[in-house]
Amino acid sequence: MSRVMLIAGNWKMNGLRAQLDFFAELAGQLDDNSAEVLICPPTSLLAAAAMACENSPINVGGQDCHANISGAHTGDVSAQMLADSGASYVIVGHSERRADHNETSVDVRAKAKAALEAGISPIICVGETLDQRKAGNATTFVGEQLLQSIPESELLNNPARVVIAYEPVWAIGTGMTASRADIAEMHAHIRGLLPPGASTRILYGGSVKPDNAAGILALDDVDGALIGGASLAVSSIKKILDAANTQPK
Ligand code: PEP
Repeated sequence: MSRVMLIAGNWKMNGLRAQLDFFAELAGQLDDNSAEVLICPPTSLLAAAAMACENSPINVGGQDCHANISGAHTGDVSAQMLADSGASYVIVGHSERRADHNETSVDVRAKAKAALEAGISPIICVGETLDQRKAGNATTFVGEQLLQSIPESELLNNPARVVIAYEPVWAIGTGMTASRADIAEMHAHIRGLLPPGASTRILYGGSVKPDNAAGILALDDVDGALIGGASLAVSSIKKILDAANTQPK
C-alpha cells in the first residue's frame, strides 16, 4: 500500500514573529513537491503561521495538547484550540515532554484520543533510551510503549489519521542517527503491531539532516520524518523534502 510521505518539522521552543517569513519562502519552493509538508511551530506562532500558509500546501500543527477539551488547566492548550488556530496535526508524547513533564504513555494515549476527537491527527512519538538499546531491549520497549500510547479503537476507526514517530531518545538533537538496519528493524516491528493493511504512517526522527535523509527515507517502512533542528532553516528542510520527493514509494 502506498502512503504519502510526511515531512514534519518540530520547531520546539524556537521561533518569533520575525521568523514568519519562513512560510512564504518555503511555499515558494514547493512547485514539484509530492510529499506532505508540516511545520509545528511554538503555540505562540500557530495562528499566524496557519494564516501565512493559507494558500500554500504547508500544514501547521501543535507540539502538544491537553487531554481535556477545556477547563482549569493553566498554561495548557487543548486539541480543539489547536484546531481552531489552524492546526491539522499535533505531536504527542515527544520524549522531551515525557522527560520534562513526566508524561506517561497513558497520558499520551488520552492526548492522542483528544486530538482525533478535535479533528486533528496525532503524531504519537515513541523511542528507546541508549541504555535500553545497549541492553538489547529496544524493540520490546518501543512496542510496549506504542501499545500503551495508541488509542486502540480510534486507530481501528481512523488508521490514516494516526501517525507514529519512532524517535530514539539518544538520537534527538545529538547528531547521532540510528543505523539504517536498526531503523528498518524497528519500523517493521511497529508495522507488525498495527492492524494488517493499516494506512498509518510511521516517521523516523532523530538528527535527520539533508545529508542522511535520502538513505533513511528510502527504507521500506519509513513513511517520512520528524525533524527538529534541520526544520528551522528553509534551505535544510527543502533539501530533506527533495530527498522525500525522489523516493519511488
Ligand atoms: C525532534 O525534536 O523530534 C527531533 C527529531 O529533533 P532533531 O531532528 O533535532 O534530532
